[in-house]
Amino acid sequence: MNGRIVAVFGNMVVAETTGRVTQNAVGYCTRSDGARLLSEVIRIRGRLADLQVFEETRGLRVGDVVEFQDQMLSASLGPGLLGQVYDGLQNPLHQLAEQTGFFLKPGVYIDALSADRKWTFTPTVKAGATVRAADTLGTVPEGIFAHHIMVPFTTEGDWKVARIAAAGDYTIHDEIAVLKDASGAERPVTMVQAWPVKRALSVAKRRLMPDEPLVTGVRIIDSMFPIVRGGTYCIPGPFGAGKTVLQQITARYAEVDIVVVAACGERAGEVVETLRTFPELEDPRTGRSLMERTIIICNTSAMPVAAREASVYTAVTLAEYYRQMGLNILLLADSTSRWAQALREVSGRLEEIPGEEAFPAYLESRIASFYERAGAIELADGRIGSVTIGGTVSPAGGNFEEPVTQGTLKVVGAFHGLSRARSDARRYPAIDPLDSWSKYVGIVDPAKVTRMGRILRQGNDVKQMMAVVGEEGTSIEDFTVMLKAEFFDNVYLQQNAFDAVDAATSAERQQFVFDKILEVVELDFGFTDKDVARQTLVTAQDLFRNWNYAAWQAGEFKKILGQIEAFIAAKGRTAA
Ligand code: ADP
Ligand code: MG
Repeated sequence: MNGRIVAVFGNMVVAETTGRVTQNAVGYCTRSDGARLLSEVIRIRGRLADLQVFEETRGLRVGDVVEFQDQMLSASLGPGLLGQVYDGLQNPLHQLAEQTGFFLKPGVYIDALSADRKWTFTPTVKAGATVRAADTLGTVPEGIFAHHIMVPFTTEGDWKVARIAAAGDYTIHDEIAVLKDASGAERPVTMVQAWPVKRALSVAKRRLMPDEPLVTGVRIIDSMFPIVRGGTYCIPGPFGAGKTVLQQITARYAEVDIVVVAACGERAGEVVETLRTFPELEDPRTGRSLMERTIIICNTSAMPVAAREASVYTAVTLAEYYRQMGLNILLLADSTSRWAQALREVSGRLEEIPGEEAFPAYLESRIASFYERAGAIELADGRIGSVTIGGTVSPAGGNFEEPVTQGTLKVVGAFHGLSRARSDARRYPAIDPLDSWSKYVGIVDPAKVTRMGRILRQGNDVKQMMAVVGEEGTSIEDFTVMLKAEFFDNVYLQQNAFDAVDAATSAERQQFVFDKILEVVELDFGFTDKDVARQTLVTAQDLFRNWNYAAWQAGEFKKILGQIEAFIAAKGRTAA
């Protein structure tokens, strides 16, 4: 069905149609030189359809034809997604760069998945078997995973496998099975299927309560403000506080199978940086490139606003697809503020009634429905898969009292607020231990976390008070609490991302070290002199800091453990 453009403004066009157009349907705006520009219907008013164009609209004119499609903006799902760098519309950027120079030419779209590459298929069902949506028909090896080729997710009810391909090499477009329903209707199946990105993809026996800790290796997260598989969290922080570095650390060390990064950069340089850094990161699990189990969706603010808006949906759809294979996926969105700005721009062009700070009134519901796509599910055959979503927020001036941060805080399960004061003091990761919170239970007994949290708070109170009354005006008891809080912060909450050992700490080690620190912190030193107190805690700090750099259970680790035990036994008196 076709329509004609009646108005063009910015990245939007208004088209007049004669037939029925559906919300979120895809349309191609056809320029006089033949270029077909991808767009999406975002509002229908009688015979008028408002479309956002995912391209520069320069050259489009009133009267130009719009071809409306039946399908909605969709992602291609199949083997070959891992290791790819896509833009928000799933154009592979490396290939784009080769074909068109680094810039996207309007109207140039490249298949998300290679049509030529052969995959070694092993069938797992026989002809005659009864199958339903998302059941596995066979697998192909993709990197370190068995990529499941599944019954199309849009299939309804029971189908019989009429034919299944023999083991062998096939492209994604080769027919690998034919399904037949009760009426005898046939449906051919290939290794690739499409799914509308704005609709959640979840074919499951049931949704699980997310409660399995997702160990990231970052101590302040895992021990104090944990996240879980299938849960959600957000990292708000001012510019330069370490959001991107923190996401890179988690991408590398978090105990998940696949990482999907939605990079909506503040500046073009930032995304280029991500693209350059990731392939160089080594996967601690395989020793090979981290990219082999990563997918990057990237946008810069230079790309059209609608493509930026689409990118987080594309990213979460790819994550959901791999969840259907029983895998654990971590989706990192950096930064969701850029995405929200895209929503704001689109809303402004539609002349909708603006809400707070000119964001659309539906901002919160959009944020909520994005994070709701996280979750742990049990598949039909009992396997479990999860999508965990972590999003950064970059509020202007680092002020968390703004709509995107507030809208996100209402829906996420954990909040890792980065503080300018901590990043300025180079206390990395700059997660503020007084502001942050988590609703999840992690690897450390919550009662112990509470005890430690109380000491941090008391220590902070003393520090504030001391700034007024000075050290002399502070009691030795208060002074000791302050030193203990500082000690915990220095040797545990802070972590050196650039040290091979300290960069990531296993769950087992965190539990062990946390208990030792709690022993020190709850020790009654009986200090009578502030200098002695300070000296003693400095000694403890040196011991624990060196301990952080010693490999878990290695000789050096055990040696230092012996020294720590002696220190505790003597209440710090004999240690020198
Ligand atoms: P943001 O994304 O919040 O703007 P970045 O993640 O780009 O900030 O961090 C800015 C700079 O701060 C980095 O280039 C790095 O020098 C420093 N930094 C951030 N986090 C760490 C860390 N965990 N360890 C050491 N340096 C860090
Ligand atoms: Mg950043």
